[in-house]
Order: sequence, then C-alpha cells, then structure tokens
Amino acid sequence: MLAEGDTNLLQGLWSYPNSCCCRLIVSGDSTGTSLSPPSALLHHPNTLFLNLTELTDQQKEFQEVARKFAREEIVPAAPSYDRSGEYPFPLIKRAWELGLINGHIPEDFGGMGLGIFDACLITEELAFGCTGVQTAIEANSLGQMPVIIAGNDAQKKKYLGRMAEEPLMCAYCVTEPEAGSDVAGIKTRAVKKGDEYVVNGQKMWITNGGKANWYFLLARTDPDPKCPASKAFTGFIVEADTPGVQPGRKELNMGQRCSDTRGITFEDVRIPKENVLIGEGAGFKIAMGAFDKTRPPVAAGATGLAQRALEEATKYALERKSFGKFIAEHQAVSFLLAEMAMKVELARMAYQRAAWEVDQGRRNTYYASIAKAFAGDIANQCATDAVQIFGGNGFNSEYPVEKLMRDAKIYQIYEGTAQIQRLIISREHLGKFKQ
Ligand SMILES: Cc1cc2nc3c(=O)[nH]c(=O)nc-3n(C[C@H](O)[C@H](O)[C@H](O)COP(=O)(O)OP(=O)(O)OC[C@H]3O[C@@H](n4cnc5c(N)ncnc54)[C@H](O)[C@@H]3O)c2cc1C
Repeated sequence: MLAEGDTNLLQGLWSYPNSCCCRLIVSGDSTGTSLSPPSALLHHPNTLFLNLTELTDQQKEFQEVARKFAREEIVPAAPSYDRSGEYPFPLIKRAWELGLINGHIPEDFGGMGLGIFDACLITEELAFGCTGVQTAIEANSLGQMPVIIAGNDAQKKKYLGRMAEEPLMCAYCVTEPEAGSDVAGIKTRAVKKGDEYVVNGQKMWITNGGKANWYFLLARTDPDPKCPASKAFTGFIVEADTPGVQPGRKELNMGQRCSDTRGITFEDVRIPKENVLIGEGAGFKIAMGAFDKTRPPVAAGATGLAQRALEEATKYALERKSFGKFIAEHQAVSFLLAEMAMKVELARMAYQRAAWEVDQGRRNTYYASIAKAFAGDIANQCATDAVQIFGGNGFNSEYPVEKLMRDAKIYQIYEGTAQIQRLIISREHLGKFKQ
C-alpha cells in the first residue's frame, strides 16, 4: 500500500519480467487506501488510483511455466509452423498438459477456475512464442465463454467437462461472409421443429473451424426484420460431427498461419433444444457479452507480440554495428526502442486493468475495448519498428520480425476491428457525460 505522496513510486515498481499486478482501487472503496486523491481528480466521475502490488505466488508460477514453455518450446517450432501452416496440435497438447489452456473453466466442471487476469498473464507469455499458436488456444476461450457465462449445469458439465478431460478444441461461430462488424446482420437461420432447431446458413473466418469438437453458434430465430437484435438471435452449442456441418478449406492468411481459419456451412443441421443457451432470443447478448471477458486476453496476446518485437529488436541493436558503433548507440535507434518500451508497458497496464475490472464483477466494456484497440495498434507499431531496426534483414524470413509484422495485423481486425472498438469507447465515454 502506498502512503500519501508516494505516487512517484509507481514508475519504479512497474517492471517486466516480474510484472507487477495493477490493483486499482476506487477512491473511497471499502478495500481501503491511504491515498487521498488530488483535489482536481475528485471532480472526475470515475476516479481510480493505481496501487501496484506483486503478483501472487500462484500467478508468478503460472507466468513462469508459460514463459518457459513459450521460450523453450514454442519459439523454436514457430517458424516451421508458419511456413507449413500445419496446425500446432503437439504444442497445444503440451500446453494442455501444463495446465496453460482452459484455465478459466470453473472448478465444478473440472477446470482451475482462474480469473481473466490470471488467464491474461498466461496468454501474454504464449503470444511471445507465437501468436498463431496463441490464437488457436485463445479461440477455445472464445468458444467456451458463452457456455461459461450462459450455460446451465448440464451444458457446462457436458461441453466444458470434456475439455478438462482431454485436449479438445472448440470455436465461436458468429461472423458470416456478409456480416462481421454488423453482427445483427447475420443471416443464418434456426427454425424450431418439435424438440429440435433446424439450422441453415454460412459462417466465415471461424478460428479452429476445422479442428473444433463443438461450436458456439449464433443464428437468427425471429425472421421479423423489425425484431430488435436483443430478441432476434439464439445461441446454440453444436456438436461438430452433427450431420450437415461442413467446414470449408483452411484459409491462407497473411499471418498467424498455423491457426486454423475456415468458413463453415450449416445445411439442415438439427440441434436438440437442450443445446440452446438460456432460451430463444437470448443469443445476441450472450455472444456480445463474451467479449468483455475475451477482449482482455486478445489485448494480452497483442502485448506478448509487442514484447517479442521489443526484445528481438533490442538484441539485434546491441549486436549490429554501423559507422563503427552498435546501432543501439545511435540515438534514433535507441529512441525507437524507448517508444516501443513505452507502448508495451502501457498495453500491459491496459489489459491488466480490463481483466481486473471484470474479475471484480464490474462491467468492463469500456476498459476491454481500450485494451483491445490500444494493444492491437501498438503490436503493429512495435512489429513495424522492429523490422525497421533490423534493416534489410527485417524484411527477410530468415529473421523473426517479418513474421511478427504479418502476425500483428489481425489484432486490429478480429474480435471487433480497431474502428468498432473506437465506436464502443466513444459510446461508453459519452454515455458517462450524458447520465
Ligand atoms: C483470422 C481471422 C480469425 C477470425 N476468427 C473468428 C472467429 O473465431 N469467430 C468469428 O465469429 N469471427 C472470426 N473472425 C471474424 C472477424 O471478427 C471479422 O472479420 C471482423 O469482426 C470484421 O468483420 P468483417 O471482416 O466482416 O469486416 P467489415 O465488418 O466488413 O468491416 C470492413 C471495414 O469497415 C470498417 N467498419 C465496418 N463498420 C463500421 C462502422 N460502423 N464504423 C466504422 N468502421 C466500420 C471495419 O472496421 C473494417 O475496417 C476472424 C477473422 C479473421 C480474419
């Protein structure tokens, strides 16, 4: 706990790799703080203070296991997976054995019941190794989250329980060829017939699309175009081997090439009514609500990539010479590294805050979007700057940073584009002033 006037300690306490956890205490919160807010801040509607504490021993342990695994096993294998596009199942299986996947499955259903903050610490480390591998792993969290937040006990036992027992994958099927950002524009239809729903439609860009054991599926159940999105859609759990589920070819993407992305056709797919989440019409809120818990980990992944870019560029700048000195000794290069370091630290703080908020049971939509947008942007900036520091070698696939630049782009696109995050942030921000 900081004493009054000790706010200047904040900069000294925050350091990677033993990255401190960011404990944010609401002014006047019952958890207590000895800090008194400067009077100017008292007028802000949402004044919060940083109180930096060490990670718990358990959090440090998870971080350490993930870091060791990423650096010793993912980093050496990543270039080959990037070249072949092969699905990195051996690495995923190993991560599962180490307890680095599905940690957020509740203990009652065989998981570890980790918070989003803890999961993010692991995600950042895995992403340092390869974000193609990390995205394949993260897609499990995205697929599971609707079941975690909206499933009944029987659904959780059946679909989360099996993932705790063996290394299975799942997927989140929402986007369609004609509707990504505009989720309410999806056309996949589910029609109730007796005790089943019959689904027809086409999904696109589904991560783990060809590897999933089951899918979360969003489909329209109310055909009336005037029906509001909050009532028109229903969320289902679909077994991947249900007749009529047809994954398409693996898409050849710019980056994260070992991640499995596909379109999926649903043709007369019969889903038992027991597989509806909550009830007919509840799907849109479930699908969107999952993002509050999955955007912080996406931001953590982007931060891991940016950290990798910073480390690779720093090592190179301390080895490469020009004009008789190490390029790190040219101020232009060292300032680029300084800018990258600033961005990485702030992205880390942003995802940790977003994760911490939701772990406290508070609505974190604003913070989740800030973290996702900021970390996505800085991953791209840091990867581009790393390529710059590598010079000609940076443009070549024998060196690690061109992959980082290709891999980074998707962080500004999936789970809500950079523009959609800004829409959410501005809406949330303006909302506070309109109250
Ligand atoms: C590799 C990969 C993996 C993915 N994984 C999944 C997955 O597992 N599950 C899933 O359901 N989806 C997944 N997606 C889909 C992804 O979430 C969408 O691609 C994304 O939401 C954008 O939708 P879109 O591609 O239809 O672009 P569009 O919505 O057509 O947007 C095109 C451009 O217009 C901008 N734009 C659109 N509307 C607005 C607006 N109102 N204001 C300002 N700008 C706007 C966008 O920001 C973007 O720049 C994945 C995509 C990729 C490429």
